[in-house]
Amino acid sequence: MSFSSSCILPPAMLGILGGGQLGAMFTVAAKTMGYQVMVLDPDMNAPAAQYADVHICAAFDDAAALQNMTRCAAVTTEFENVSADSMRWLAKFTQVSPSGDCVAIAQDRQEEKEWITRAGLATVPFAIICNDSDIDNHLEVLLPGILKTATLGYDGKGQIAVGTIGELRAAFLQLQNVRCVLEKKVDLRAEISVVVARLNEQQVACFPPAENQHENGILAYSLVPARLPQSVLQQAEYMALKLAHTMNYKGVLAVEMFVVGSEMQLIVNEVAPRPHNSGHYTLDACSSDQFQQQVRLMCGLPPAATDLLQPCCMANILGDIWPADSEPDWCTVLNHSTASLHLYGKKLVRPGRKMGHFTVLAEDSEQAWQTAQSLHLRLQNDTQNLYSTVLNELC
Ligand code: ADP
Ligand code: MG
Repeated sequence: MSFSSSCILPPAMLGILGGGQLGAMFTVAAKTMGYQVMVLDPDMNAPAAQYADVHICAAFDDAAALQNMTRCAAVTTEFENVSADSMRWLAKFTQVSPSGDCVAIAQDRQEEKEWITRAGLATVPFAIICNDSDIDNHLEVLLPGILKTATLGYDGKGQIAVGTIGELRAAFLQLQNVRCVLEKKVDLRAEISVVVARLNEQQVACFPPAENQHENGILAYSLVPARLPQSVLQQAEYMALKLAHTMNYKGVLAVEMFVVGSEMQLIVNEVAPRPHNSGHYTLDACSSDQFQQQVRLMCGLPPAATDLLQPCCMANILGDIWPADSEPDWCTVLNHSTASLHLYGKKLVRPGRKMGHFTVLAEDSEQAWQTAQSLHLRLQNDTQNLYSTVLNELC
């Protein structure tokens, strides 16, 4: 059997670049399947370090650390802003998925849009802005719009809404004149995402599309099944697969889409070359989950079945709900018989930081969402009550 066609089996050592919550959930999946895991992350308290066999605490482009990673039978990543060149270098010595080239596409909104177009799929109307002279009145057709940095944006960061050419100029300056994409603001009927698990042209699967609701630019809830016509959901799966094929993608790819206007046109927003926050529901509601798929694909194994076993809603838990010097009252979620709590073990709490999530199972996704919202509200209120108790005691 050739090197490329042989499967990597337990107890081989698998490597991951990045040890945040996605790296931690990957590590748990790999360890459960009997693999060993080596994590590279510069943070001493990286969530994945609590589960990994080896934690290399160094920068992602540290030569000695990367040399160490070549001991792994296969290497993957948990985030797109890892150096694509590090991944290309590692690929000379070990199996790397997704490829550095695919990661590079997802790192850059301009590249991403070129590949979406190459796949024959729709993007929002946009223009590239590299310097001041690119800004003139012909861009008025894209207003009101959103100016986004071409690289390094996430969770709504690196984006400014603009209504006039004057505001556009000011926003470009505020983003420090870095290369940007100006997108027309489209009328969002809904947002969905599809997580694809692809080994090659024949061996590919996708999880059911999730309907995503954002608050302040950060994912708040994912409902599955999405409350949209079956024909739209099938089209979304087709588009996600088409993009993965065009990129010749190996691994887990998340494709975010906008559902626009009353005719529900599907537009590809962006991709992530890894498991995605909106795919966390697969941990509790599907016959396999996105992290098991990441393990399987990097090892050359075919994707596992992706069936939804029960309707559900995933809710993110952000640092905002933490009371000062204590923990939210987890009983709120733990006492609910169809809710599963996932906490990432992050030591530093900050507003907007993703600290955990929970998933509620129910008869249908609407009901799961209602329950998830009320549990989330209670978690928040408990926190506020605690704040006022502390305040009262101080007064
Ligand atoms: P991020 O990398 O921060 O996830 P996105 O491009 O996905 O960046 O934008 C975050 C959110 O902002 C989207 O999920 C959507 O709700 C909103 N948004 C982004 N671009 C547009 C657009 N062109 N029109 C309307 N809403 C948008
Ligand atoms: Mg996004």
